[in-house]
Amino acid sequence: MALQIDQFMCRTDNFGVLVHDSRSGETALIDAPDEAAILKAVERTGWTPTVILTTHHHQDHVEANLALKKKFGLKIYGPKAEAAKIPGIDVELSEGSKLEFAGEPVEVIETPGHTAGHICYYFPKSHVAFVADTIFAMGCGRLLEKPAPVMQHSLQKLLELPAATKLYCGHEYTLANARFALTIDPTNSALKERAATVEKLRAADKPTLPTTLAEELATNPFLRWHDPAIRKNLGMETASDADVFAEIRKRKDNF
Ligand code: ZN
Ligand code: FE
Repeated sequence: MALQIDQFMCRTDNFGVLVHDSRSGETALIDAPDEAAILKAVERTGWTPTVILTTHHHQDHVEANLALKKKFGLKIYGPKAEAAKIPGIDVELSEGSKLEFAGEPVEVIETPGHTAGHICYYFPKSHVAFVADTIFAMGCGRLLEKPAPVMQHSLQKLLELPAATKLYCGHEYTLANARFALTIDPTNSALKERAATVEKLRAADKPTLPTTLAEELATNPFLRWHDPAIRKNLGMETASDADVFAEIRKRKDNF
């Protein structure tokens, strides 16, 4: 049977995600932003977490690590490059690390940018990737620890996944991202349509995620550095991909 996935809100705009395999009973928690919200989700689903898959060291992704480890005796996986900053880490991962969940292969993809050691988890059999603060719906993570060309390279790696891949992201930032995206790519009809949908979802306090890589390829300006209309709008027709990406990221920081 396919993996079951439950996404729930944590803190103000973080997502918690539980991934469950009913055959083995194994459950992975993607990041641990908020103990109370996670315990509620565990109770609601009946899925007891057996592992935490940590994407990066930020407080809003690791805060509940130790409390949950104590409560459930679970194992904590996370990026080797940030191991010193990840409370309770048991298994250190880097690109190409051999990892399985419930008998299914999990690929570790290093995506430095937002933080220096950020990793994403890709489940090729289930066509799903947990990208945390690397890609958001119509957005990308802020460049806190690495410069734009490094992030652009990380995003490029994720773009090579199958377009149908479902993406789970770390935050509900979609509405602000949509409004910004329209300033970069104002003639994109797929974007305009999506922005209108997102306005409605958020007005009803509904989540806008998960998304798919295909949807992001069509509407996310941070993944569309190659797009002639965007380049023209920025006056950067002949610039490098990394420079176009850097300019879009800079504009978002000042938006
Ligand atoms: Zn973060
Ligand atoms: Fe975050």
